[in-house]
Amino acid sequence: MQSAKEIISFQNVAKNYRGGNDAVEDINITVNKGEFVCLIGTSGSGKTTTMRMINRMIEPSRGKIIFKGKNLKTFDPVRLRRTIGYVIQNNGLMPHMTIKDNITLVPKLLKWQQDKMDRKAKELIKLADLPESYLDRYPAELSGGQQQRIGVVRALAADQDIILMDEPFGALDPITRDDLQELVKHLQEELGKTIIFVTHDMDEALKLATHIVIMDSGHVIQDDTPDNILQHPGNDFVKELLGEERLLQAQQNTLSVSDIMSKNPAKITLGQSLAEAIREMSYRHVDTLLVTDDNNKLKGFIDLETINDRYSKYSNVSDIYQANRFKVKTTSYLRDTSERILKQGYKYVPVIDNDNNLIGIVTRASLVNIIYDAIWGKEELDNPDNIKLPDTIAKESDNA
Ligand code: ADP
Ligand code: MG
Repeated sequence: MQSAKEIISFQNVAKNYRGGNDAVEDINITVNKGEFVCLIGTSGSGKTTTMRMINRMIEPSRGKIIFKGKNLKTFDPVRLRRTIGYVIQNNGLMPHMTIKDNITLVPKLLKWQQDKMDRKAKELIKLADLPESYLDRYPAELSGGQQQRIGVVRALAADQDIILMDEPFGALDPITRDDLQELVKHLQEELGKTIIFVTHDMDEALKLATHIVIMDSGHVIQDDTPDNILQHPGNDFVKELLGEERLLQAQQNTLSVSDIMSKNPAKITLGQSLAEAIREMSYRHVDTLLVTDDNNKLKGFIDLETINDRYSKYSNVSDIYQANRFKVKTTSYLRDTSERILKQGYKYVPVIDNDNNLIGIVTRASLVNIIYDAIWGKEELDNPDNIKLPDTIAKESDNA
C-alpha cells in the first residue's frame, strides 16, 4: 500500500552487474516526501548502486521501484533525470562555462525562457550565499567549497524536489564541509526537498538524516531514525559503525537516575540518637547517613566526623544534621546530572521523588561504573540489577 507521503519505494530490488555477485540484493526502502535519507555503509556495500537506480542511471536486475505512485520503468529516463537533482563529489561543474551557464544547464535543456533562467540563476546564487557577481566567473576562480555550493544549488535549478547526493562533501575540509551540511539541511528543512544522501561518515549521517539506511555487502542491515539506531543498534556491525563513544553518549542520553540508583541508602531518622547513628554506620560500614523524618522525607545527612566533634555536647540526630547541597529527582536524566556529580566531586547524591521522599542514592562509584561499562561493555546496561553498586557510602568514599 502506498501512503500519501511516500515518494520512492524499493521493492525487493537487486542489481547484478554482469557476471559478478549481486551488488545489491533484496533491497526494500521507503522514502517519504521531505525526508533526509542517508545511505551509509562501507565501501562497496552498494550505496551508489542503490542511489543511481532512483534516476535510472542503473537499472535493477530484479524487483521494482515505485516512484511517485508509478513503476519507475514507465518514466522516460532522460526526462526523469532532469526532474531529480544529482550532486557528486567533485561538483561536476564544466570548467569552460561560467557559473551562470553551469547553473542553468538543465533549464536550458528544458528550453526555459532566458529571463526565467536569469531569475533562477540569481535566486540560486543567493541560496548558495555567494555574491551575484560570481555568476560571471568560471569555476576555477572559486574555492573548492564555493564550487561545491554551486554544485549543490545547481541540483535545484529546474525546481527539482528530490536531490541525490553521492558523498558530496568527502573531499572538503571540515569547516567547509560543515558549512555545506548547513546548506543541504536548509534545503530539506526550509524548502521541503527530499534528499537521498550517500556518506560513509556516521557523524555526517547523524547530523543530517531524518532516516538512516545502513548497508553492508549489498544488504540493508538497519533502516530507522537516527535516534532509534543509536538506542537499538541492530547488530555488531552497526555498533561498530556507531562507535563506542557515541553509544555511551546515547545511553547516557536516555538513562535516568532511577535506572542506576541504589534503592537502599544508609539512613537514619531525625528523632533517633547519635548513639543509634553510630551503630547504624558501623553496621552498614559507612561514614555518612542520609537523614529523613518519620515520613521518609529527606532532611539532610550526618557524618561520622561531625558526630565525633560534637558528641560531648549533643545527643540527637536532629541537633547536628546538615542539609544536602545537591539532590536529584528519580526522573532526572543522567546526561544532566552525571557531569555535575563527577566534576564537582560529590561522593554521592540522594535521589528523591517529587514529594521529597528519599528513594535512593547515586554514588560516584556507580556512575564511574556506568561509564566504564558503556565503554567496555562488560555489564548488561539494560538490567540495572547487574550493575554493581557499592552497598555502602563508606566503601565508595574510600574509592573516591
Ligand atoms: P558503494 O557506493 O557503497 O561503495 P557501489 O554501489 O559502488 O558501492 O558498489 C557495490 C558493488 O558493486 C561493489 O562490489 C562494486 O565493485 C560493484 N560494482 C559497482 N559498479 C559496478 C560496475 N559498473 N560493474 C561491475 N561491478 C560494479
Ligand atoms: Mg559509492
